[in-house]
Amino acid sequence: MADESDPTTADVLVVGSGVAGCAAALGAARAGEDVVVATKAERPKDATSWWAQGGVAVSRSNAEGFKRDIVAASDDTADPDAVDVLVENANEAVRDVLIETLDVPFDTEADDPDTFDYGREAAHGERRILHVNASTGRHVLGPFLSYLDDHPNVTLREDTAALDLLTREGRVHGALCEHDGDLDPIYAGSTVLATGGIGALYGRSTNPDGATGDGIAMAALAGADVADMEYVQFHPTAYAGEVATPFLLSEALRGEGAILRNDDGDRFMPEHHPDAELAPRDVVARAVAAERERTGDVLLDVSSLDFTTEFPDLATNCDERDVDHRTGIPVAPAEHFLCGGIAVDSRGRTSLDRLFAVGECSRTGVHGANRLASTSLLEGLVWGLRAGRTAAASGADPEIVDVPDLRDSDPALPAAFAAEKFTRLREVMDEFVGLSRSPSGLRRASAAIRRLKGEVDAYVRTRTSRELYELRAATVTALLITRAARENTDSRGCHHLVVTTDEPEVHAD
Ligand SMILES: Cc1cc2nc3c(=O)[nH]c(=O)nc-3n(C[C@H](O)[C@H](O)[C@H](O)COP(=O)(O)OP(=O)(O)OC[C@H]3O[C@@H](n4cnc5c(N)ncnc54)[C@H](O)[C@@H]3O)c2cc1C
Repeated sequence: MADESDPTTADVLVVGSGVAGCAAALGAARAGEDVVVATKAERPKDATSWWAQGGVAVSRSNAEGFKRDIVAASDDTADPDAVDVLVENANEAVRDVLIETLDVPFDTEADDPDTFDYGREAAHGERRILHVNASTGRHVLGPFLSYLDDHPNVTLREDTAALDLLTREGRVHGALCEHDGDLDPIYAGSTVLATGGIGALYGRSTNPDGATGDGIAMAALAGADVADMEYVQFHPTAYAGEVATPFLLSEALRGEGAILRNDDGDRFMPEHHPDAELAPRDVVARAVAAERERTGDVLLDVSSLDFTTEFPDLATNCDERDVDHRTGIPVAPAEHFLCGGIAVDSRGRTSLDRLFAVGECSRTGVHGANRLASTSLLEGLVWGLRAGRTAAASGADPEIVDVPDLRDSDPALPAAFAAEKFTRLREVMDEFVGLSRSPSGLRRASAAIRRLKGEVDAYVRTRTSRELYELRAATVTALLITRAARENTDSRGCHHLVVTTDEPEVHAD
């Protein structure tokens, strides 16, 4: 049970310690607020941010070109005001935080150490991506966490999972957290959700296992608006074999000239899009899936690159997995990023009072129906700083509210129950709510997930354990995705509907 005699309080509670959560903590801490960062991560690599490869896009001196590329990749669905916020703040946020505060060692030109080596990725019209080889994420997140650890206004609480938001009369007052089997309500003036993505809902994902959609589910259950949940982005070139940790073949490879070949050895992307391998992600992902279905393996041919010299991290990844890059690297689409999420404004404010959301769990409008490569770390950074500053400026004090229905934490939840239900959920999402969807498939998914959710909810009424709440979050989030996909009959970006002539009529619920 929680120790109610000595409640934990904070001016600002940040849930999650990826780049977005770190940026929110920094924004609030710089304004002098007491910040608690509660993160279920035990190690930095539990956050997706750690695994980011290609880098951080910046505007350089061509803001309008950057905006055009974001909007084009989104299939013209990105919110222009949100794109303005991202792009207009990009150079300054990166300079201030990543370069001057954290001293991230971005690659520079071989013959000029004072000039950054800007990379190019698919659907970017020019070179504008700052990177540290192809493992940018860890070089950003590592220093960020160390910096916050030393910051006098920030308390980092690792291995601490938020299970539910604490609310009273539509206002959010913190979160009920769990650490080592104990429940601990953390009361806060403002609460910032930065819990990342949803990869764990799918059988194949580039995300770490903890990406169970917790923040989205907690916010939605508390009544916050969510939006664009149907836009689940699949990366076209994840390694096709079995791997214990995410292994992505970065878009930067295609940016530098790698090409895709089918099992017959033929290059196929020019038939699918005028930009061939540099087409937007959703187009390339569907083409790769179609060629795999038609001919077998799809290989990423990196023979035109000096692979081991230009991408030493990826070459090492290949070596560690006994993948011979000289014969082509087998690739397949995998869930990668959720474009939608908790609906927020330009300062990360949600529809609930004193609740903010930033990073991949939020929906700012920047990505619309499909995200442009290397804009997610940037979005987390820009919105994180803005939300942290806004939360601090609100000056809200923590209030102790009732913790409804507090139950003993029971770590003895049958592990087999959670594992079995998760497996079933992934099967349903893979089959019916993946890269292509059909109205009848979505209807079947909806029914199956509802059934699962019913079983999980029955457990939630009697127990409080982290695994169970992750499972609950996953089922709630899966239902939100499926519902949004059923309601949207327009194939755009990542939401691709295949309607056959014998499809029964769609009835959204
Ligand atoms: C392989 C790979 C490569 C990528 N490459 C790039 C790239 O080059 N450029 C780019 O811009 N983007 C890239 N992305 C996308 C980008 O990395 C993510 O979208 C971004 O890092 C998300 O940041 P975040 O802070 O929102 O979430 P995360 O980094 O996932 O952090 C979420 C945090 O919340 C914690 N958490 C979750 N639930 C709870 C809970 N209930 N209680 C407490 N804590 C919780 C997690 O433990 C974690 O610490 C890549 C993604 C992958 C998977």
